[in-house]
Formats: sequence, C-alpha cells, structure tokens
Amino acid sequence: MISIQGQGASAGVICGPLYLFRRAPAPIAVDVAEDPGAEWARFKAAQTRASAQLEALAQRALERAGQEAADLFLTHQLLAEDLDLEDSVQRMIRLDGMNAEAAVDATSRHFMQFFLEMEDPYMRARAADVQDVGRRLLNILAGRVEAQLDLEFPVVLVSDDLAPSETIQLDKSKILAFVTEAGSITSHTAILARTMGIPAVVAAEGILHPQYEGQEVFVDGETGEVFLNADEPTRAALLAKRETQQRLALLLHDLKGKPNETLDGRMVQVACNISGPEDLPAVKANEGNGIGLLRSELLYLQTASCPTEEEQFCFYRNILEQMEGKLVVIRTLDIGADKQVDYLQLPAEENPALGMRAVRLCLTRPDLFRVQLRALYRASACGRMAILLPMIVSPWEFEACRDLCCEVQAELAAEGIPFDKNVPLGVMIETPAAAMMSEELAQLADFFSVGTNDLTQYTLACDRQSGVLDRFYDPHHPAVLRMIHRAADSIHRYGKWIGICGELAGDQQLTELFLAMGIDELSVSPNQVLPLRGTIRSIDTRLNRERLLDELGL
Ligand code: PEP
Ligand code: MG
Repeated sequence: MISIQGQGASAGVICGPLYLFRRAPAPIAVDVAEDPGAEWARFKAAQTRASAQLEALAQRALERAGQEAADLFLTHQLLAEDLDLEDSVQRMIRLDGMNAEAAVDATSRHFMQFFLEMEDPYMRARAADVQDVGRRLLNILAGRVEAQLDLEFPVVLVSDDLAPSETIQLDKSKILAFVTEAGSITSHTAILARTMGIPAVVAAEGILHPQYEGQEVFVDGETGEVFLNADEPTRAALLAKRETQQRLALLLHDLKGKPNETLDGRMVQVACNISGPEDLPAVKANEGNGIGLLRSELLYLQTASCPTEEEQFCFYRNILEQMEGKLVVIRTLDIGADKQVDYLQLPAEENPALGMRAVRLCLTRPDLFRVQLRALYRASACGRMAILLPMIVSPWEFEACRDLCCEVQAELAAEGIPFDKNVPLGVMIETPAAAMMSEELAQLADFFSVGTNDLTQYTLACDRQSGVLDRFYDPHHPAVLRMIHRAADSIHRYGKWIGICGELAGDQQLTELFLAMGIDELSVSPNQVLPLRGTIRSIDTRLNRERLLDELGL
C-alpha cells in the first residue's frame, strides 16, 4: 500500500481509478516586439475576450455552485481589467519593448509574488487567482483553446494544480474527487470543490507519478490521506467512514435550512467547537449556528515561539471573516495542566491541573495576555466575536481580566485602530467554585459556557487524563449535573445566556435534561451537529421537565 499525506480540502471518502491530467505550459514568446502599438492592441483584444469568458464562467458558476462561486469569477474579471495590471503591461510593451505575451507573463508573476509574500495565508492563496487570470490571457494571446476533459467514465483526477476556472468546468458526474500536488486549502479551487461537493486533497506531494495512472486510489478529503493499493483494514475503515458520511448527508438533506427548534417551539443554538480555520468547512457543511468554542491555545501549541500579535490577528480575522457575521466565541489562552509549551518555560508543578493554568497564567503574565487581547480586539472589527475566559473561580479574576481588556481597548482607540466596543466577555464554568459563585459572576459577565470536561474533573476530584480512572470519571454524576443546573438558574435570573461546550454537550442521553434546565446553546464538534439537531427537533420540553429535574433531586 502507498499512502500519501496531503491536506484535506473538501471532505468525503471516495475510491476510483486515478487519471493524470496533463496541461502543456503556455508558450511565451519573449521576442522583442517590433510594433509596440500592435502588441498593445493585441493585449487589449485579449483582455476584452478574457473579460467576456469570465462573465460566461460566472454565469456557469452561478448555475453549478451558487452566488459565492459566481462572485469569484466576477472578481477574476475585475482582475483581468485591473488598471495596475494594465499599466504594468503597457509599460513593459512600450518602454521595455516586450511583446504582449512576455509583458502579461512578467506582470502576473510580479503580482503573484506580491501576494505570496503576504503573511496572511488567505491572502497568499490569492496568488493562484492571479495565475489563473494570467494563464487565461496567455492562452488567448497564443490562440490556444483551454484543455477540455473528455472522460468516458468517472475518475479521481490528479494534477499538479487546478485553477478555479478549470475546477468549475469539471463535469461532476465524471470527477469522483481531485488531488493536486500543489495548492492550499484556502485557494479558490478548494473553496469551489467544497461548494460543488467534490472531495479534494491538495498539497499531496508525490502523487504525480506516471506509474499510478489507472490504479485504484482511495481519497479521504477530510484527513487529506490518499491511498494506492489500500490494504484490507484501510479499505474497510474507509468504506465504513464513507457509509457514515452518506448517512449524515441524508440527515443534512432532511434538516437543511430547518431551525433548531423543539416540538414546543423552543429555539436552541447548536454551535461548534473548533481548533482553527481548517475546521470551518465542516462547520458550514453541517450548518453549525456559529463557533461556541475556539480553543485559542492550540495556535500557541503549534508554534516554536509565542505567536506574535500580527500572527494571532490574522488567525482570528480569517475565522471571523469566514463565519460571515455568525457569533465566534474565542477562548483566551488555556495553557497549563495537560497543555504545555516549552517556550514559556513554566516551572514544573506537583499538580499541574491545580496549578498555573489558563486565566491564572494570563493574570500572572500580563505581557503575554496583552498580546492576545490586542490581537483579539483588532480582529473584532472583522466579524461578530465574543471572548471567553477559562478557569475563573473568583469574581476578582474576572474583574482583573476585564480591566486589562479595557486598557487594551483604550490603547487601540488612542492608536486609531478600529475594534468592536461591545465584544461580550464571558466566563467558563469549569470548576465547582465557578458554579457555586454563578450568582455573583452572573452580575459581572455577559455570558457563560460550561466546560464539562474540567467541571467533571474538579467536581469529582478525578484526573480527566488518567485511563485507569475511567470508571470513576462519570460526567453523568448528579454532582456535576446539579452544578450545571445551579449555574443555569442563577445566570438566567440575571438575563444572561449559558451554553455547554464540554464533551457532554454532544451526549444525546442528556439533551432533554439540558433543555429542561434551560441551556441556551450546545457547542459540539462539527460532526455531532446534525444528530444533535435531529434530537432537539424531536423533544417536547413540556413533557418530562418536572420528572427529569426531580430525578436529579433539583
Ligand atoms: C472543558 O473543560 O470542558 C472544556 C471545554 O475545555 P478543555 O476541554 O479545552 O479543557
Ligand atoms: Mg477546560
């Protein structure tokens, strides 16, 4: 078995024969132009033609993949007509004596380089759009017709890279999936693959081997894995995964666009827990109502040194922009306990779970915290954000964090940097102390989220990491559930909302009880959204409320 690890760009498991897509490079005549006027006229004619082609492609994209995809080609059209691009081509033709092909090639390379040097991965991926438009102009200038795929049977298409305009023209009935050796998950090609529902893997280094042509290949568009000659256990696991995906797709089909409403008309938010932008396609595919928990510390865990303000800003902004106005709850740094980073050089502790973690670390190292808060508030101008503080046990800790937030806001205002002045500041209920102090905390914070993983650990004095304690680590324990009920009661008394973002949120044995307690939001991993939505829509909260709360002794 040969396995190649790429990046999952569009989810879905598929199996089929591998087809190598070969594209001849556009010939570029670099001769000195004899007649600059004629070259300029050739360029202008090519530009007009490209613009018309892109308009037609936008129409095609609208029919095949919706408005978002159509907008992409309208953006390409603007790019083809861009005045800076035109200026550059004109200069090269008139002053440097280049012919139209050479001027277009040099200009698009220059523009691509400009995007490739950007720090933000999303902006870097825009280089592929420039390349696509440049290639179109060159093809027109060279009188070349775009390569058309004429396939007799469905294949897994493998290529060095695919341009967005090539992707939109793929015949969905003949393309089972595509795998590219280059590319990125934020490229428009990947975005189109997701909207068109074609499983895709990008950055699969080594896939372009002529010997692989025609072989059976398995593609997992979620994990980014590609297998040739898959062995029996791999094959069985992938087929089982495919079956689950098909079941969820049917469920989505049933639930699409329907509200998360109980039979008696109560609306419940079902949001998602994510680690970074790579999880967003799954959030969208499952129609998550927003992000209930972004564990920001995972960004710190991936780097060799503390992420800078700019790096964090780009990371948060990207997520907020992609969530298009839906609420994104970002938890501040929750380092410590089981999540350690070497570069912070934190002293070893006897009991790390009870030690310098989360908000305790942030209040002890305000230098660190300020960088994150500045990045967060700067990003708040780009979407709808809320900030969530982990491991709060006392009101003074919340107040100290809020003071730092106010200082950071004042700093940004003085620097003339835009931010949202009304970012809600929330508290995680993940210790018995927070649950018991919920009455006081409810008067301070804007919203709450129950971290049942830690709440169980601290309520039951039972290490969540220890395999041998499984029997004793019981998140259904009445002590844990009573804590949640107590917190929900006091928080609602002050008109604030409360969600659950620990693993228990997705436990459907408890959904009815949580709704009986009045929990406003359940935040789960994206693949749990649909089953949970199905359960919520089957519950009548009036039927068993009293009995469920009675059974808990509430
Ligand atoms: C929790 O404790 O339930 C929680 C959501 O936070 P984490 O699992 O990241 O500690
Ligand atoms: Mg926790």
